[in-house]
Amino acid sequence: MGGGRVDVVVIGGGPAGLTAGIYLGRFLRSVVVLDAGNSRARYIPASHNCPGFPHGIAGEELLERLREQAEEFGATLVRARADGLEQVAGGFEVAAGGTSWRASKVILATGLADRLPDEPWAEEAIACGALRLCAVCDAFEARDGRVALMGPAAGLAGHARFLRGYTAQLAAIPTDRNLELDEVDGMRALGVEVFAHGGTMGFDGRRCRWRAADGRVSAFDTVYPYLGYEGRNALVADWGLEAGEEGELKVDRYQQTARPGLYAIGDVVSGLNQISVAVGQAAIAATHAHNSLPFVPRT
Ligand SMILES: Cc1cc2nc3c(=O)[nH]c(=O)nc-3n(C[C@H](O)[C@H](O)[C@H](O)COP(=O)(O)OP(=O)(O)OC[C@H]3O[C@@H](n4cnc5c(N)ncnc54)[C@H](O)[C@@H]3O)c2cc1C
Repeated sequence: MGGGRVDVVVIGGGPAGLTAGIYLGRFLRSVVVLDAGNSRARYIPASHNCPGFPHGIAGEELLERLREQAEEFGATLVRARADGLEQVAGGFEVAAGGTSWRASKVILATGLADRLPDEPWAEEAIACGALRLCAVCDAFEARDGRVALMGPAAGLAGHARFLRGYTAQLAAIPTDRNLELDEVDGMRALGVEVFAHGGTMGFDGRRCRWRAADGRVSAFDTVYPYLGYEGRNALVADWGLEAGEEGELKVDRYQQTARPGLYAIGDVVSGLNQISVAVGQAAIAATHAHNSLPFVPRT
């Protein structure tokens, strides 16, 4: 699997990391992209808000195109999980399964891990759009359908407001407690049906079905679970870097963390977890990294 000295190691090969690989390759820098192969984008049945794809593109196909483009311009892609990151003289040492790379700069593009409903059918329901994880991404496709949002009671109102702009048939299902009376009033004023806490969600292969505690069953075209996520920042968890509540790393306007030479891009950073944000941050980080590496005149 190689190893050795390179200008930049990118950790994570989703849209953010692969875009950084494309830019650095085109800056004629040596770059290795390590990827554990678990991109959130692989869940996307078809994205319709990815610029340049008016008829949509599946997440897997987008990843394949980005990998091809990164390799085309000289990035080395390695399928491996980085299991060690250390600061050393002149840069960083990155380890993955017994191999290590020394790099002047490291770009963390490790993404985040969604908390999915703890159901064996969750991934199948995501694949057919019965379960959706990102209203900014695809509420447009769910518009005017029968939609449920489920999650902790305290967060439901804000999400309901966003989704109510897309459908008049919206239901809210609290996963931790019943809504208080004033919360119920707020939802009803918004035209949102409120369910009691304490039923179970099932999936019939096409649609999700909620069985309430009293036995009544309601079918939904789309369910949005809001169960949160965790930033995948384990490699730097004990580096004392500033992070938000869900582990998202804080960076400066060049995507650099408080450790010079260590950048972070994409969902591991962003509050707006979107492909277009991830690739924009990749362009910024890769350009700054390139400009701060030693100048190499062409011979
Ligand atoms: C169901 C669903 C639908 C979505 N739809 C859309 C949409 O329509 N439009 C849109 O803009 N966005 C959409 N998104 C969000 C989009 O997928 C993410 O914003 C995007 O994938 C973020 O890219 P990223 O590169 O930061 O992270 P990721 O794509 O998650 O990639 C991170 C990569 O890093 C790897 N990694 C993690 N740790 C390590 C390690 N230690 N060593 C090596 N590799 C590691 C992971 O395996 C993964 O491959 C959707 C997300 C989901 C879940």
